Amino acid sequence: MSAELRGLGVSAGSAAGPALRLGTPPKLPAAEPVVTDSQAEAERAVAALEAVGEFLRGRAEAADGAAAEILAAEAMMAGDPALAGKVRGLAGAGRAAAWAVREALADYRAMLTAAGGYLAERAADLDDIADRAVALLLGEPMPGIPSPGYSFVLLAEELAPADTATLDPAAVLAIVTERGGPTSHTAILAKTLGIPAVVSCPGAASVADGTMLAVDGSAGTVLAEPSPRQLAELARRRAEHAARLRAARGPGRTRDGHPVKLLANIGGPADVPAVIAADAEGVGLLRTEFLFLDRRDEPSGEEQRATYAEILAGMRGRKVVVRTLDAGADKPLAFASQEAEPNPALGIRGLRLGALLPGLLDTQLEALALAAKDTGADVWVMAPMVSVPAEAAAFAERARSHGLPLAGVMIEVPAAALCAAAIIEQADFVSIGTNDLSQYTFAADRQAGELAPLLDPWQPALLRLIAMTADAGRTAGKPVSVCGEAASDPLLAVVLTGLGVTSLSMAPPALAEVRPALAGHTLAQCEAAAAAALAAATPDQARTAASAALADQDSRS
Ligand code: PEP
Ligand code: MG
Repeated sequence: MSAELRGLGVSAGSAAGPALRLGTPPKLPAAEPVVTDSQAEAERAVAALEAVGEFLRGRAEAADGAAAEILAAEAMMAGDPALAGKVRGLAGAGRAAAWAVREALADYRAMLTAAGGYLAERAADLDDIADRAVALLLGEPMPGIPSPGYSFVLLAEELAPADTATLDPAAVLAIVTERGGPTSHTAILAKTLGIPAVVSCPGAASVADGTMLAVDGSAGTVLAEPSPRQLAELARRRAEHAARLRAARGPGRTRDGHPVKLLANIGGPADVPAVIAADAEGVGLLRTEFLFLDRRDEPSGEEQRATYAEILAGMRGRKVVVRTLDAGADKPLAFASQEAEPNPALGIRGLRLGALLPGLLDTQLEALALAAKDTGADVWVMAPMVSVPAEAAAFAERARSHGLPLAGVMIEVPAAALCAAAIIEQADFVSIGTNDLSQYTFAADRQAGELAPLLDPWQPALLRLIAMTADAGRTAGKPVSVCGEAASDPLLAVVLTGLGVTSLSMAPPALAEVRPALAGHTLAQCEAAAAAALAAATPDQARTAASAALADQDSRS
């Protein structure tokens, strides 16, 4: 019988393929072996460095944009003749190859760090080169996302945002992680790329490489060595899912024609084709920090302008809501880092970084305004992590001073939801980030899979904060969007519509499920479902009450 692992299904769809684990940095064994032929050992050490250079050059050629530049620069460092000389010297003097590489690169690292500035920022590249060369010499898998030349199911403890920058969606059939919650960035990335994913899956990280796995990202199951019958069933569900994706088109409407804009969440130009394919009405959340996760230095205004323009042009006149950099906590950016904080999620992140790095926001807003001019696109800009009306007012003024007429803020801190009326007075629109709003309302780390029940978007306390925000928007006559993962749950989308939310933004593949759910109900039905969910005591009761209210109304119509 096939063994089954269970976790949280966070990105719908299913896939089967061989397992491959994310490579972790190798550790040198405690005892260094005695070398008998130091010349041969030196050659082995240098050959490993050359192989790493070759590998990085290959990846640079396959990548584009900033990732390609970084990989090419790292490849050059691996091929530095002075570095090879140092390694050769150490190994020639009797050190074992892996130890010689580690020591030579550690010395280089210390030199770069002491030099400060740009050179210090390259230190992490040296760690990567050392890890890769040592792994080769010890016969261990390369650290990072594997690139074996065939498609595979990626297994990991958890994916760091930086790992995901080099993830090739064509090669990764599914993602399974031991840790991570439903709104962790692994989940968000997988959804955006349409890769089935299961997180918080105990036992995932210890599955042996090469084990055949069948992953169901809707049910949250991972079958090891599935039977032919199970594989056939999986293929049937995959075909059904693909057919649903192809069939869903057109703007968001309830059955009686009440418009609810259906928008997409994206992280960069590579996601634009999926937005167009899903026939989204635009982008409701461009996470600009995702564009620069692998950058050590701040991208220039010119570079940002070109990147934004590429995305805006690709959207062919559809609205694009651009969120300014949400750096910090679970999305660290090397060029916007601050002193180590005891509680980074409660620290200086998002808009708060402006106090430390005032130039960052202005450069971004100016680049965005220029890109909007270059393309004539319908650009809306919004700030993350706003807590009080004064922050909203300052941001809106800043955006307008750069010539960006539509400035909004995210509602993702309970204080902002509680004072939504005062906040929305300062802005042109708001967008509710339910991922963080859950995290901060329930004091539950969004990365922690074991806290998933608290982070359930059907929690009545969360629904009440959303209702307060939607009411404030209705009174002010301004748009209120939901761009957290809550928007991608079809039944919850109906409830959010009933609460008065005016647009829903989600990973592009989720639009295919949400669109028909809206089209299947009238606004009055959505309102009845919302009232029922709001009155419930638990998430499960809220779900059941909403479904029952819809069924009841169906039987009467
Ligand atoms: C959110 O917090 O709900 C949100 C949309 O932003 P992010 O997930 O990028 O923090
Ligand atoms: Mg957020």
